[in-house]
Amino acid sequence: MAMRVTFWGVRGSLPSPVTPDVLTTRFRGLLHEFVARGYREVADVDRFIQSLPPQRIGGYGGNTMCVEVSSDTQQLIVDAGSGIRPLGYELLRGLCGRGMGSVHILMTHFHWDHLIGLPFFTPIFIPGNTIHLYAVETNLEEVIRTVFHKPNFPVPFERLGAKLEFHRLAPRQPTTIGDIVVTPYQLDHPDPCWGFRFEHGGKVLSHCADTECKRATREQLGLDLPLYQGVDLMIFDAQYSIHELVEKVDWGHAAAMIGLDLAMHEGIKRIAFIHHEPASSDERIAEVEAHTRQYYDWQIQTSREKHLGLHEVDFCFAREGLTLTL
Ligand SMILES: [Zn+2]
Ligand SMILES: [Zn+2]
Repeated sequence: MAMRVTFWGVRGSLPSPVTPDVLTTRFRGLLHEFVARGYREVADVDRFIQSLPPQRIGGYGGNTMCVEVSSDTQQLIVDAGSGIRPLGYELLRGLCGRGMGSVHILMTHFHWDHLIGLPFFTPIFIPGNTIHLYAVETNLEEVIRTVFHKPNFPVPFERLGAKLEFHRLAPRQPTTIGDIVVTPYQLDHPDPCWGFRFEHGGKVLSHCADTECKRATREQLGLDLPLYQGVDLMIFDAQYSIHELVEKVDWGHAAAMIGLDLAMHEGIKRIAFIHHEPASSDERIAEVEAHTRQYYDWQIQTSREKHLGLHEVDFCFAREGLTLTL
């Protein structure tokens, strides 16, 4: 294993817990299916659960953007959406719980869904810990201070227990953190937003959210093209279905098919789609995932018949708790 990626928050825009009504309806449907399949015994329960895609039971998750990227010796966190709260609890079991931890958080940009979890990230309150924050944008420290500003949050920035250190990432220039090299490239998103290319142990991971990916050809991408080349796993913005995207031009988000097209042309081996629309139910996301698979199968079939040279891609719609290795 070169790198491990764990998804702690995969929703865009706003935390989106599943409502009790939706859970009740889903639970009823699953019980009906259990009986319809002829299962009767307690021992059948695990067999039934294991036969279903995990998202049919637990959904894709409601926490906003937070992705953990790790090598054997270095851990990086991309964004501090509400998904960073449970990650914080996990870190408390290690050095962070004893005030001896070093945490590295890379910010793609400062929209709320990427920042809202930071005041609930427990390691930040423990003296002795050091929280390193990285961003391309030069106003990083000012933004973080604002997050802890009264009356929006009761603990002021000056009283945070941990030591905070701010680091500027130079656009399109590699920075080494531990044994992982990270290079930021600009995405197509307001305010603006930066994607990250991570390299370690001969493998490449690219984090491409939030982006509308309006620039899709090599010529249009220009200096930002390396974000999409020689990539083993790409994390890509799939907030909308392709039909919704038509109505949401300039909203700064893409659809899975946009990322797939890019991957099939550039030879990106695998994609995890992320930043799911908060108004989309888990069932709706699963439906879009199924449509995306139909589109992919059709594209690859056509490519084979007409010798278009499209590359095969392995892909999934990421759910909270999913871990991928590369
Ligand atoms: Zn976002
Ligand atoms: Zn955004």
